[in-house]
Amino acid sequence: MATRTIEHWIGGTETSGASTRRAQVWDPAEGRAQAEVVLAERADVDAAVAAAKKAFESWRGVSLTRRARIMFAFRDLVERNLDTLAGIVSDEHGKVFSDAKGEVIRGMEVVEFACGIPQLLKGEYSEQVSTDVDAYSFRQPLGVCAGITPFNFPVMVPMWMHPMAIATGNTFVLKPSERDPSASNLIAQLYAEAGLPEGVFNVVHGDKLAVDALLDHVDVAAVSFVGSTPIAKYVHNRASENGKRVQALGGAKNHAVVLPDADLEFAANHITAAGYGSAGQRCMAISVVVAVGDAGDALVAKLRDKAEAVHVGPGRDEASDMGPVVTPEARHRIVGYVDRGVEAGATLVVDGRGLVVDGRENGFFVGPCLFDRVTTDMDVYTDEIFGPVLVVLRADTFDEAIDIVNANPYGNGTAIFTSSGQAAQKFQRHVNVGMIGINVPIPVPMAFYSFGGWKDSLFGDTHIHGPEGVRFYTQAKAITSRWPDVEYGAHHRAHLHFP
Ligand code: NAD
Repeated sequence: MATRTIEHWIGGTETSGASTRRAQVWDPAEGRAQAEVVLAERADVDAAVAAAKKAFESWRGVSLTRRARIMFAFRDLVERNLDTLAGIVSDEHGKVFSDAKGEVIRGMEVVEFACGIPQLLKGEYSEQVSTDVDAYSFRQPLGVCAGITPFNFPVMVPMWMHPMAIATGNTFVLKPSERDPSASNLIAQLYAEAGLPEGVFNVVHGDKLAVDALLDHVDVAAVSFVGSTPIAKYVHNRASENGKRVQALGGAKNHAVVLPDADLEFAANHITAAGYGSAGQRCMAISVVVAVGDAGDALVAKLRDKAEAVHVGPGRDEASDMGPVVTPEARHRIVGYVDRGVEAGATLVVDGRGLVVDGRENGFFVGPCLFDRVTTDMDVYTDEIFGPVLVVLRADTFDEAIDIVNANPYGNGTAIFTSSGQAAQKFQRHVNVGMIGINVPIPVPMAFYSFGGWKDSLFGDTHIHGPEGVRFYTQAKAITSRWPDVEYGAHHRAHLHFP
């Protein structure tokens, strides 16, 4: 059988351009390659940026109502293709189909927000700031914007970026993850069907070479990156050195603090879902539980029962709660962490290392793993494992739990489980984390807020989508205006002193 090849989408057409290198795209549930994706050379990035630059000349002048209408049409097409998009995600990423649908819907919500662009881009006006002088401001697009995205949300994370960039009048070059690239090409087709002019949205597939070409390209005005912390830092530094505006979202180690007054059944249910959903491959996954005081033993017993009840299988099987991890390397890395956790002396309460799924013996499956009595010096705690591994730390007091959260270098999300409003208020005030859940395990802000962590989870100062997304993709102009009335002799004298 001929291997399917996934090509770039440049200037409205699919092309392999100058690319000769290829990467294989896995079917993680079967454990075999299902397609190849072309890997861009610099010439391909140049071609995509040139197409976007050319399209910017006219797109920036397209009326706000027309831009909004295209977004409405695109949103409608995304909804009509929901199952197809979710299927592609499930097949290449491995996550279960219902989870993949959820991701597409959360992405679509950003498109819905972008449909309100005429309202969002309203400027300010002050009459008579000085005698017969008015002042006003408005925001203009930047030009060609680039998005570089991770494998774990191949539809949603790019949608945090491109609807906002495009609705605000920019053109866009997306470099999606090479591990699950197909969804981006369907998105490009849907934009075209929605009436978006050629060259406004482009997709370049590739690896470090493509990323570096974007970071160095003189015609790229801004870069949005989402991925692991070391690469986020690198992208932030290199793009900033090249004078670009950049927001780079990194990795995470999200803690759930469980107080003894919490409903432990509720907490255990939600922590299990947040820890093992998508096989732990979410930047907002709960990967650490800090059990305070008496909560510990009862909570661990419940977490054990629930982890053991998670049904692992192919993403397309409706009976599956959790699918495989994305690649054999990911599986190897995750199992290695569990091995080292055991060696370091943590108690392995649930061991998913040996899990084999019937009929899918080659799939990249790892069952849920649960560690108890983990300490902050063990690498199962210090590192982002990005797999279905939940670690429990014990804290004697609430203050100690807050100190643990704050000592961690990541600051993406965190959650508290409690029945005390006072404790929740103390938590939200004192944790140094960007997104906080109160009895909500995965506090991903809705599309009309902005998403972003603190500390090593975000480099740059702008969060993504929502109001901060509008600001990131635009620059403000402030105008001071006077129309002297010559006829009536209102000849204002000019002074040499500062007015
Ligand atoms: P990754 O950092 O390996 O890759 C992200 C992107 O960077 C990909 O497009 C990849 O091709 C590119 N890339 C990889 N290595 C590179 C290099 N050396 N130089 C230049 N570019 C490079 O991340 P991943 O494994 O695809 O995704 C998982 C990571 O993303 C996790 O750390 C997760 O926490 C993080 N993530 C963060 C958020 C957030 O909002 N903070 C959201 C989703 C995922």
